[in-house]
Amino acid sequence: MTIDPNQEGLIIGVIGAGAMGRGIAQVAATGGCTVKIFDTRAESSKEAFEFIGGMLNRAVEKNRMSTEDADSAMGRIEIAATMAELNNCHTIIEAATENLDIKRKIFAELESIVSDDIILATNTSSLSITTIASSCERPERVAGFHFFNPVPLMKLVEVIDGVRTDPKIADFLFGLGKRMGREPVRVADAPGFLVNQVGRGYTIEASHLCSEGVAEFITVDRIMRDAAGFRMGPLELMDLTAIDVTHPATELIYEQFYHEPRFRPSTLMKTRMEAGLLGRKTKQGFYAYEGGKQQTPEEAPAPPYDGRPIWVSGARAGAQAEITNILQGAGANIDSGDQPGGKSIIVVTPLGKDATTAALEEGLDPKRTVAIDTLIGLDKRRTVMKTPVTDAAFADAAAGAFAADGTPVNVIRDSAGFVTQRILGMIINIGCSIAQSGAATPADIDKAVTLGLGYPHGPLAFGDTLGADKVLDILTSIHQVTGDPRYRPTPWLRRRATLGVSLLTPES
Ligand code: NAD
Repeated sequence: MTIDPNQEGLIIGVIGAGAMGRGIAQVAATGGCTVKIFDTRAESSKEAFEFIGGMLNRAVEKNRMSTEDADSAMGRIEIAATMAELNNCHTIIEAATENLDIKRKIFAELESIVSDDIILATNTSSLSITTIASSCERPERVAGFHFFNPVPLMKLVEVIDGVRTDPKIADFLFGLGKRMGREPVRVADAPGFLVNQVGRGYTIEASHLCSEGVAEFITVDRIMRDAAGFRMGPLELMDLTAIDVTHPATELIYEQFYHEPRFRPSTLMKTRMEAGLLGRKTKQGFYAYEGGKQQTPEEAPAPPYDGRPIWVSGARAGAQAEITNILQGAGANIDSGDQPGGKSIIVVTPLGKDATTAALEEGLDPKRTVAIDTLIGLDKRRTVMKTPVTDAAFADAAAGAFAADGTPVNVIRDSAGFVTQRILGMIINIGCSIAQSGAATPADIDKAVTLGLGYPHGPLAFGDTLGADKVLDILTSIHQVTGDPRYRPTPWLRRRATLGVSLLTPES
C-alpha cells in the first residue's frame, strides 16, 4: 500500500449518486481530490452534479468558501458513463442502494476493472463489511467508510475494519476522511457499527415504554428533551427518520446479534410501519404534520395542590433532602415524621424499581404512594409515577405540589426505571458493551455518539456524569424487577462502577 491519502491528484470513484453519494463526492472534491461519479441511472449522476454545484454556490454566498475554491472543486468532479471508467481511481467508495446482492455485484465488477492495490470502501449502514468483502477475491482491501446524512454537515465518518481488512487500508481511509474534512473514528465490524448500535437504545426503549402503556408518545419526548437534555425526543426522531427506515434497521441489528435482548424490536414500531404511519414523509407518524409542522397538543396544567401533607421516604437520604427542598420551596406542607402520617401523600425515590416495589419494600401504603424520578433534570421537568392503585386525589395533589414552582410535571404509569432511567441506562449499557468488545476505544465511542447523534454526552461520559454506581444500581434493579435480560448490566459497567473508576477507563 503506497498511496498517501494526502497526495496530489488522488482520484476517488463514487458509486451511487443518491443522497449519500453526492455528499461524499462533494466533500472529496472540496478536500482536493478528483472525483468520478457513477450511477446506473445517468439522470441521478447529472442531478448530483447540479446539486453539488448548488451547495457550493450557497457556501460561496454565505462566505464559507471562495469562488475560486468552489470553481476548482466543481472542476474536479466528473461523471463516469460506465463503471469501467473508474479504472484509474485510487479508491472507490460505493454508496449505492442498500442491498447485499447489488453491492456484491458492484464489488465483483470493480475487481475486474481496477488493479489489485486499489482500495474498495462501502458506505453501507446496516450490512456487514465482512460479508460484503467475503465474496471479493481480495477481501483485505475492502473496508467500511460510513458517512452520515447530510454528509457536508455531519462531521463523523466511521472507518470500519472487516474481519479480513488489512489495517493499512483502514489507516488510509482514516487519513482520507480527514482530508475530506471529516472526524474519522475507527470501529471493528459489528451489527450497526457504533453509532447505529447506540442509537437503538434510544428508540427501542422508548417504543417499549409506550407499548407497555407507561406514558404517551409526547410525554416520553418531553421528558427526554427537557429533563434529559436531548435535542429531539425518540418518537419525533423516528418520525423524522421514518419508521420504515428505523424498524427494518432495528430488526436487522437484532437478527445479526443473534437476538441479543438489548436490541429486541418493539411490536409498536412494526404495527405502525405496517399501518403506513411512517412519520413526517406521510404527514402522520407518532405525530400529525401540517405544512411540515409537527402538531403537538397544549400541555395540560397540573391539578392544584390541595395542601395535604407530603412525606418523603428516607430510603435514599440525598434524594430525600433534594425532594424535600423542592417541595418546601414550592410551599408544600411537609410531613417530617419517621413514618408517614395517616393522611399524607407518600413520595418514594427509587432507582430502577417501580413505585409498587418501592412502596411494598419500604412497608408503605401503595394507595397513597407516588414515586419521583431523581436521576436527572429536576429543574426543567419532573416525572411522577403512580402505583396501579394510587388514589387519584393523592396523585393529583402530588403532581400539583411538584408543579407549584412552575416546573412542568408528567404523571406516568408504574414502570421499573421511569422513562429517563430506562432509556439512559440502555444507552449507557450499549456504549459499555461496545467498549467491552474492543470494537472502538472508549474515547472514540463517546466522540462518535456526540458527533453522530448529537446526544448531550457520549454514553460513557453520560454514565460518569450520572454516577456509574447509580447506573449499575438502576440496571440491576430493573433487571431484578422485570426479569428481562435486556437490562442486565454489562461487565464493563459492573467492573468500573464497583472499582469506582470512570467508564472511560480502558483495559490496562
Ligand atoms: P439513494 O437511494 O438516495 O441512492 C442510491 C443510488 O444508488 C441511486 O441513485 C441508485 O440509482 C444508485 N444505484 C443503485 N444500484 C446501482 C448500481 N448497481 N451501480 C451504481 N449505482 C446504483 O440511497 P442513499 O440514501 O444515498 O444510500 C446509499 C448507501 O448509503 C446505502 O448503502 C445506505 O445504507 C448508506 N447510508 C445511507 C444513509 C442515509 O441516511 N440515507 C446514511 C448512511 C449510509
